[in-house]
This record gives sequence, structure tokens and C-alpha cells, in this order.
Amino acid sequence: MKEILLLKDGEIVLKGLNRRQFEDVLKRNIRTALFGTGQYEITSAQSTVYIKPLSDDCDLDEACDRVGRVFGLAAYSRAAVCEEKTLESVLATAPVYLAKTLRRAKTFKVEAKRSDKKFPHKSPEICRETGGEILRRFPHLRVDVHNPDVTVYVEIRDFGAYIHADPLRGAGGIPVGTGGKAVILISGGIDSPVAAYMMAKRGIKLTAVHFASPPYTSERAEEKVVKLLSKVSRYAGSIKMYTVPFTKIQEKLRDDCPEELFTIIMRRLMMQISERIARDNDCAALITGESLGQVASQTIGALGCTNDAADMVVFRPLIGMDKQEIINIAYKIDTYETSIEPYEDCCTVFTPKHPRTKPILKFVREAQERADFAPLVEEALQNLKITYINPEY
Ligand code: ATP
Ligand code: MG
Repeated sequence: MKEILLLKDGEIVLKGLNRRQFEDVLKRNIRTALFGTGQYEITSAQSTVYIKPLSDDCDLDEACDRVGRVFGLAAYSRAAVCEEKTLESVLATAPVYLAKTLRRAKTFKVEAKRSDKKFPHKSPEICRETGGEILRRFPHLRVDVHNPDVTVYVEIRDFGAYIHADPLRGAGGIPVGTGGKAVILISGGIDSPVAAYMMAKRGIKLTAVHFASPPYTSERAEEKVVKLLSKVSRYAGSIKMYTVPFTKIQEKLRDDCPEELFTIIMRRLMMQISERIARDNDCAALITGESLGQVASQTIGALGCTNDAADMVVFRPLIGMDKQEIINIAYKIDTYETSIEPYEDCCTVFTPKHPRTKPILKFVREAQERADFAPLVEEALQNLKITYINPEY
């Protein structure tokens, strides 16, 4: 039996004139996500993307899995294609295609969608006939229109008739690449991969910046970040990652800045360096995993001092979230287990015993200027390492 994937557009349907552009990006992202699972024809019509396998060896289980992580889709179904667009063919296909599901169920109903108005049978008739045929073949079943175990969908569309069970929920959001580009400051922690996921969901194409301070931070710590990004990239698409050598800057911080301002000045330097990389990569915003009040460097005052270092808009999608809420998303996107692996992040080297929770911007700026990081910042920017990250399946 021939199968197809039917994907329902999400928020794209709210777009007006540039809807075509959104759909083109969405189709491109779907094609990229399906890479390696087989050859498909991908088309769209009536707020639906059709993925038609072009050979029998397409891995549709894997394709379904991947499609479930593409932003811009509200729902998706794996469906049988009826041999002909006739009621007889629908009646022959539905009980066979959904046999396993129907055998296990106690109750069912049929829902027909007839978007091809030229089809000679109206929806109530399609439902009645299909329901009757299913009852003949599975006499143990009962019809329950309010709370059925299984709903059998019959869709009569322009190019064919399709049968499927309940659609699966799509990843939501809007297609990656339609919301512009931004730099995610990524550590090996729990928060920043979640922040990356959340902004990709709003259509942002990500470039990543990671600060490493060898030998205080290990090679393993950087590998962990690569692994986290490849998990995020299953949703966000490929990601270019910059590793910034941060050791000399941190040593200078330790030597030349007041200890209680160490963290705040370090965060300012991270913002400034990330902003330079962002500009070079056509990115218009920075993204961090900061959450208000989580640690000393994330109080309202500290965030103000950090924010002052960047001219670009800074997105902090986790700002109002509790740690547990963030962890729940980390589980969902499968980054949690990697995030809790115990490798040092540069934030945890030379941390002050008593960081300022209410830093005064004027003093912070003065301390940073006095130490004069400009030459070391330039040196770091000359020695960036680039890694290209693809999804890990
Ligand atoms: P995370 O779990 O994301 O590490 P956190 O709660 O540990 O966050 P901080 O260590 O204060 O908080 O970091 C705040 C934010 O600063 C991070 O979410 C991330 O965006 C950025 N950041 C921290 N360390 C690094 C790093 N080594 N490289 C790049 N960005 C970093
Ligand atoms: Mg951290």
C-alpha cells in the first residue's frame, strides 16, 4: 500500500502576502531534515505539505520522527493513498490500512474532509459508508462520536484520497530562517541549549559562540557543547559554531579587576566579543540562557550591567522561567543528560567568593576600562575556531 506524509502548516497560515516565501523555506527545511532517509517529492497546497516517497526503500518511520521536529508545522499524519479517488477505493483501503489500530480499539468514529468539492459523495455519506464497512470487518467495534478510541480520517483532496488515524502534534513555531539570524552564547549548561531551541522555534537561524579557557576547561567540555548543539540542530538545522579562546582574558580579569566584579565584567566581555562575531555573520541579535534571579550574575542589576555592553538586542527567552520549567524542555529536546555531564565551564573558573549582586554600572565600566581588554579581545577574535554542526540522529 502506498503511503504519504501530510503535514499541516502552523502559524504560517496567519501570514499574508509573504506566505509563499514562508512555505518555500518550510519545504526547504523539511527536505534538509529528511536527508538520508530516501527520495521524496515535496509539494504544498491548501495549507498542507505533501511528502510523497519516490521509492519503496524510504524510511518513513525515521522521516516521521524528523518531520516532528521541523518548526512551522501544527500537525502531521502518515497516511495511506487510496488507489483511486473513489468511495469504493476508500472503503477498500481504510479497514486494511488501520487494521492493527482498529483491532485494538473498542470504539471509533470516521471523520471525512472533502476539500475536492467535485467528489460525488458528500462528507456525511463518506462517513456513513466508511463506518459501515469498518463495522462489517470489525464487529467488536462500536461507534462513539464523542470520545472514540480511534478516529479514522478520510481526506478527499485534489490529487487523491487519503486515510489516516489521529494526526501527531507538530513542533509548532515558524520555519527556521524566516525570523532572521542571531548568535546564541552557548555554554555546556542546561539553560543555553534550551534558549537556542526556543529562539529557533521563532524562526531564527542560529550561529553559536562558545568561550573556552584551556587548560582550565578541557577538550571534553568543548566536545560536550558540540554534542549539545548537534541535538539542538535537529530542530534548528545546521549551526556554525565559533570557539573563542578566553584564557588570557580570564587571567587578566583575575589579575587586574576587583574580584567581586569579575563575573560581571567577564559577562560584558562575552557580550562584546559575541556581538563582533554576530556582525561578521549578518546576525542582528544575541541570545543567552539567562533567567532572572537564578544566580548572582542574573539579578536585575547584574543583567543591566551585562546588557549595557551590547548594542544589539539581546533575547533572553528563559528570563521568566523556573529552573524546573527549563529542565522539562531540556528533557523534551534530549539535551538534559548531556548538560549534566560534569565538565568545567569557563564561568566556573576563578569565580569570586562574593560576587556583587547589585553592581553599579559606572564602577563596572571604569574597572573594565582601567584593565583595558581591547588588545586581548582583538587577539581572541584573530584566533577563533570554527566548527560546522549538523543534526545528530
Ligand atoms: P547555562 O546553563 O546556559 O550555562 P547558567 O545558568 O549556568 O546558564 P551562567 O553560567 O551565568 O548561567 O551563564 C549565563 C549565560 O551566559 C548562559 O546561558 C549562556 O548564554 C552564556 N554563557 C555562559 N558561559 C558561556 C560560555 N562558556 N560560552 C558562551 N556562552 C556562555
Ligand atoms: Mg553556565
